[in-house]
Parts: sequence; C-alpha cells; structure tokens
Amino acid sequence: MKRLLLATALLAAPMLAQAADAPKIDPAKLSAHIKVLSSDEFEGRGPATAGEKKAVGYIVDQMKAIGLTPAGDLQKDGKRAWTQNVPLGKFEITGPVSAGVTVGGDRQTWTQGEQIAVRAAMTNVDAVSIKDAPIVFVGYGVKAPERNWDDFKSLDVKGKILVVLINDPDFETGSGDFGGKAMTYYGRWTYKYEEAARLGAAGVLIVHETAPASYGWNTVKNSNTNVMFDIVRKAPAKQHPSLEAWIQRDTAVALFKKAGLDFDALKTQAQSRDFKPVALPGATFSADYKVKHETIVSKNIAGRIVGTKYPNETVIYSGHWDHLGVGAPDARGDKIYNGAVDNADGIAGILELARAFKSRPAPQRSILFLAVTAEEKGLLGSEYYGANPLFPLATTVGDINIDALSAAGPAKDVGTSGDGKVDLQDMLVAKAKLHGRYFTPDPAPQAGHFYRSDHFPFAKRGVPAISIGSGNDLYKGGKEAGEKAEADYTDNRYHQPADEWRADWDLSGQAMDLGLVYEIGADLANSRVWPKWQAGSEFKALRDKTSAQRK
Ligand SMILES: [Zn+2]
Repeated sequence: MKRLLLATALLAAPMLAQAADAPKIDPAKLSAHIKVLSSDEFEGRGPATAGEKKAVGYIVDQMKAIGLTPAGDLQKDGKRAWTQNVPLGKFEITGPVSAGVTVGGDRQTWTQGEQIAVRAAMTNVDAVSIKDAPIVFVGYGVKAPERNWDDFKSLDVKGKILVVLINDPDFETGSGDFGGKAMTYYGRWTYKYEEAARLGAAGVLIVHETAPASYGWNTVKNSNTNVMFDIVRKAPAKQHPSLEAWIQRDTAVALFKKAGLDFDALKTQAQSRDFKPVALPGATFSADYKVKHETIVSKNIAGRIVGTKYPNETVIYSGHWDHLGVGAPDARGDKIYNGAVDNADGIAGILELARAFKSRPAPQRSILFLAVTAEEKGLLGSEYYGANPLFPLATTVGDINIDALSAAGPAKDVGTSGDGKVDLQDMLVAKAKLHGRYFTPDPAPQAGHFYRSDHFPFAKRGVPAISIGSGNDLYKGGKEAGEKAEADYTDNRYHQPADEWRADWDLSGQAMDLGLVYEIGADLANSRVWPKWQAGSEFKALRDKTSAQRK
C-alpha cells in the first residue's frame, strides 16, 4: 500500500491539472473510424492481403490529416516512411505427420490432432525428421535464476525430447514462488519452447491439462495444426526447437506408465525446487513431416509527435490493425471476419489519442502512435517492433496498448489484461480514482492474459507496458449488464464474422477510458518519470540493466 500512496502523492499535482483541461475524445469520431476499418471492403484486414493495403492506406491518411510526423523505416534519403516493413515467415505442414514413441519394446503411433498436435517447424527447414530421440521429463521446464529455480539442473538436453508441464510450479498449490494461481511468463507455452531452444533440445512435448492451460484440447489442436507465422529471425533455431508439440494428458499418463513411471507423482515432485529431470527408461520419440515455408511482408504503421525537450525519450500507444481476414462462413453465410471491436476500435483509439495530443502544445518527450500487424498470428507485429525498434527501447518510457475495448457503454471501472506488477498499472488505478471510477484487477490471472496482448513483446524486453481493458460495472445496469454484454460478445462475436460495427453502439465508455490513458501519457510525456517494474516482476532485472541510459 505504501508504494501506491507514494506514487499517487508524487503525481497528484500534474494529474489534477490534466484532468481539468484534458481534451475530450469524441465517440462519433471513434465510430466513424471503426465503421470504415471494419467494413466488408477491408475484407477482415488479413496481413499481406488486399485488405491490408486498404487498412494501411486509411491509417496513414488519418495520421497525415491529424498532423503526425512519419516514424517508420528510415529511407535512403534519411527521412522516415509511415510504415515499418514486417517480414513474416509462413510455415505449413504438407502431407501426413508421422509421430510416435517406442516404449517397452512397443511402437505406438500418435495421430496428428488426436494424441499429439505438432506445429509446422519455424526453423526454415523443408522437413523434420527425428529418429528414436530419448525422452526426458523436465517438470515445468523453468529456469528462473531470480527465483532460485532450475528444473533442468545440469541436464544436457541436446538431441533429447523434453516432456513439459503447462503453467508454472505453484499453479496447483496456489502459493509459492511464481505468484500462486496467477501465471508468470514461465507458465506460458511460448516460454517452454524458448527455454528448450536456448538449451538446445531437439523438441518439446507440452502435456495438455485443461485447468493449468486455461483452455481445452480443441483450442490446442486448432491453433497448432494450421498455418504458422513467425517474424523473420536471424537465428530461428535459437527461438524454436525442431519439434514443437502438445500431447494429451491421457497420452502422457499412458507413456509414463509404460515406462514404469507415475505421471501424477512426478508432477507433484515438479512443484518443488529440488525436482530433478527424469529420463523415461527405454522410451524414444520419432517424427517425420514436410514443411513448406515462404516469406510474406506486412506492415506496422508509425506516426509520432516529436518531443520538444527530450525527443529521444518515447511514450508509445499501440494497437493491432490486423484481424482474421476471410475464412469459414458462419450460419448466416458471412465469410468476412470484420474485427470491429477486435481491434478496429483500438486503432480508432490511438488515432483519436493522436488528435487529442495534437490539439495541445507538443509534449517534452516524443509520443509514438504504433498500429501493429499480425497480432492474431501471435503478436508478431509488436514482436517485430520489439526485435527491431524504431526508437531505442532503453529510452522508451512505456507502452500503453489498446485492444478490443467494450462497446457496451461507460463503466465505473477499468482494467488491464493480467496483473502487470508495473507502475503504469498503479497510474491507471490512480487516474480512475481521480475521475470517481475504480480499477478491477484481472479476474483470471491464471489464464496468463498479460502474455497474450501486444504490450507483452515490450514487457519481455523490459519496457514497462500494459494493455488497458474495459470494465464491466456499467453506469447503466451495473455488473449484471456489463457481464451480460461481455458474454454476448465472447459467445456471439469474438473471432467470428459477426464482430461488426453497429450504429447503436454507445462508445462514450471507450472515450472515457481513452481519456484516462491520455492523461497517463500526457503526465509521462511532460515529466522525468520512468515507470518501473515492481518487486516480483520477471521483467525487472532486464530493465534494470539499462538504467544508466535513463537519467
Ligand atoms: Zn483477436
């Protein structure tokens, strides 16, 4: 509590000044942007489609009209373009997947989509061929020096297939070194692959369990057995092991049993710091499949206001412009996934924030308005920006990301995706309070939402970052109405062709929420404040390494 009170006291004076004369965000302007961006003409804004050209054209035109300065790739003439090219690798398994284990002398075949879900390899190979690789259970597969935790001990994983549990070691017990039920980054499946690649393992089999994963096998199957995308990397094998796959829990239990081991007992052992990797005696894994790979180029869009006093220090507002494009028809025969809420409304938000900032004298620090691509393909536009920043990350003050704000009307509360343990979140809490509103913490931190939005590629590189989320406690109808509206969106519109613009939306709630993030950005852009990660954050140590560059 002490930390929060201190932060509030320090910021109270500028906040009050801002609150009194902050420019108003116009809901009608938000609606007009969303209507265009989510129209059928934009074909669901799939990256590297005709819809991308239209979306990028619209956003650039708006940024020009608002009076931003182009902030994209540096051109040969020394000027910046409005866009940043984002080359993406596209990877697809062609032909059948042969996979299985030999254990206790028996060969068992695993069927793609049933016992196992193998992703197309993203290491630029034409085929993956693994023959009789030894299998080792490595618990949660976590190496967290700041928590004095290492599941690998001194195991040499080269050439081996690792069986890994999803989520982090204290998920089941609810208390421990990894935030209890809440998921740290060590619990995310992306982390499991990354750590295995860093150590040089041949492959990873993540054991799917519904509660710790927070989604069912169908989600795993659907999102892993189709076309994969990644940013083009200089050394992809440092990011991805050759084989990345999930297996069903029952499949794992049977495999362990056949190898003379007890899956549940080993899982319990893995919840302890003393856990040591366990080889599956006499068990080997084999797989063979072909991969087609090509490169496509999509674009991030970047416009900025150059700071008057500290132009090299940058506050970022981000949001993804892409959506799912054209796909399977719904019951109405509609094939266009318009993505009005997800995330035409976030783009409308950053455009209107830009207009608000341009209506005031330029701030001391620079503000970057960044519309990123390929969020729906795995946060790739923001990942590309993080790996190839247009402005240095060490002097990036913070990123406030806007994704899928609610169109259900104004709420008394506001939230974030996941619990960030970062000062930006406390600033949002304080701003909400200042306006007679309140902050609602993420009700399901175990789902790891903090790691599933475009602010995360900034966070994992140490840049303080949050994604703002709408509250559900509506002024009209309270929580009951808000939760009903959210459930209606999730069930009937989210990632479906019916996520469409509506004339009867009440966007005054979005305007209010954008007003809060305007004030946070204005405070930061006109101060010497560097928001920090707080104790217990897995990103604090990384940020601290560059602290000498922030005076
Ligand atoms: Zn989405």
